[in-house]
Amino acid sequence: MSGYRPKKRLGQNFLISESAIQRIIDLIRPQSGTHIVEIGAGRGALTLPLARSGADITAVEIDRDLIGYLENLLKTYPNTKVVAEDFLNIDPLSIPTRPFVLVGNLPYQITSPVIEWVVRHRMHIQSACLMMQKEVADRLASSPGCKDWSPLAIFTQLYFEIERCFTLGPDCFRPPPKVTSAVIRMTPKLTAEAKYATEFERLVRTAFHQRRKLLVNNLSPTLVTDPNRLRSILTELKLPINIRAEQVATEQFINLTNRLVALDLI
Ligand code: SAM
Repeated sequence: MSGYRPKKRLGQNFLISESAIQRIIDLIRPQSGTHIVEIGAGRGALTLPLARSGADITAVEIDRDLIGYLENLLKTYPNTKVVAEDFLNIDPLSIPTRPFVLVGNLPYQITSPVIEWVVRHRMHIQSACLMMQKEVADRLASSPGCKDWSPLAIFTQLYFEIERCFTLGPDCFRPPPKVTSAVIRMTPKLTAEAKYATEFERLVRTAFHQRRKLLVNNLSPTLVTDPNRLRSILTELKLPINIRAEQVATEQFINLTNRLVALDLI
């Protein structure tokens, strides 16, 4: 594409390393009969090899300057469809074949909203292979007690297994980004939905409101009026009263939510 200037505001760091592209394709293992939705097709570095596999591809790209190029690149593949849209506005019900595999070398500025989209629409997603900044991948894969443990990790891990697959250096892209990238695979868990999903989400977000504060002081009085009552419930659930949110595991957040709902306290 001569004369095209990548747009920084759209996170346009295009993959140029053939071996990196092949590693990502090997991870996705596309095949005829699979439906793949790609976030940010760009200049088709992933779209073309995905299309060659015979899988059905919906390639979403927000930049209208790239649409003609992509359509031309893919014109001999009737199994591909290019959609000129902001991915975050895509309603999964508008995608004819569900569940689908989600893939993307993500524009870094929309990584968190994409993960939230994935969690919100998890019932339509077979799996997801996504490239993002290594720091965000580390946060998503973190565990209780790590400095990175956060509502995003909790909500994501409640519904998905997160595998950090490999990292790629800046020289795999043009223009090169300032950060190292990592590819993660997300596979839906067949178990545990939180029984009281709305209350669970509110509790977790409130618990992390000020990371350095004790759990009790974040939750009370905002969510639970009486801090002493809350302390005795923590003790009953075998949680230390001076615990911080970053030390609390997902199951413990679920137990605490269930107990507070049962006592009509939230
Ligand atoms: N897949 C290509 C590759 O690997 O070379 C491009 C990846 S580039 C990191 C991210 C792409 O996402 C860009 O083409 C950018 O225009 C597109 N993009 C940015 N924001 C988007 C959005 N909200 N919805 C859809 N595409 C978006």
